[in-house]
Amino acid sequence: MRLYPLLSGEIRLANAFFVPPDGALGPYRAMLAQILRRDTAWAPVPVFLIEHPTQGPVLVDTGYARDAAGGVTRTMGRSSAILFDHRPYDLDALLARVGVQAADVRTVVMTHLHNDHIAGRERFPDATFVADRREWLAGDKGGNTLATGGYVPSMVRPITRREVIDYDGPRAQPLGPFQHTVDLFGDGTVTLISTPGHAPGHQSILVRLGGGPEVLLTGDAADLRSVVDKPARTTIMSSEEQFMDSLRRLHDYVAEHPQTVVIPGHDPGYWPSLAPVYGE
Ligand SMILES: [Zn+2]
Repeated sequence: MRLYPLLSGEIRLANAFFVPPDGALGPYRAMLAQILRRDTAWAPVPVFLIEHPTQGPVLVDTGYARDAAGGVTRTMGRSSAILFDHRPYDLDALLARVGVQAADVRTVVMTHLHNDHIAGRERFPDATFVADRREWLAGDKGGNTLATGGYVPSMVRPITRREVIDYDGPRAQPLGPFQHTVDLFGDGTVTLISTPGHAPGHQSILVRLGGGPEVLLTGDAADLRSVVDKPARTTIMSSEEQFMDSLRRLHDYVAEHPQTVVIPGHDPGYWPSLAPVYGE
């Protein structure tokens, strides 16, 4: 079993956007820095391909749309086109390089439904999309606050093949410091971990690769590797309290499992240090 980190594109983020200044106005100051493109870095927009022995290719998040280069407003929504600069890459070519065609993908696990994670959904028309119940609700509804502006309902609503994860349901169980996890395929390979706070139904994913290392995909519960070691809030949060609680649990898990490969959501400095493939 293998896991490939794939760079579906890059998004230009102000450094203040990752970890905003202290104080109640910090997130708004970070947003201003973002609007003014002050002190920015190109951050990865990752997609992860898991070669699963019985489920075939499983994808985590969808990256950019095929035609994103031709019109970010249409494919990402207006707010994302104004707030961020985008560099979409050719995900089909990246998948082909590891022997996968988009049409082969049957399962897409969504960390959450913000536009930079769901924009590539049309590439996978036959896949079932897996997300937390609260995230489906938020994505279908949208909004225009700091916390809800990242959803574009016209991207989410057309997705009809949905697996709704209920972290209070019978499949949910605790795992170490995590209160709510779900063993997606029932074989221990892909464990979904409820890590709300960046988005109301955000989930991280623990992938156990058999003989290889285990890989923890934090999603946007931790944009940067450094905040797993030293928890700090971010700019876009549906709940700061939940965000910090989720991040502390990730911190505790990693402290207890130092061999785990931790891959954060959008870390420009850390991405180049990743291996092209994990597992064998
Ligand atoms: Zn997000």
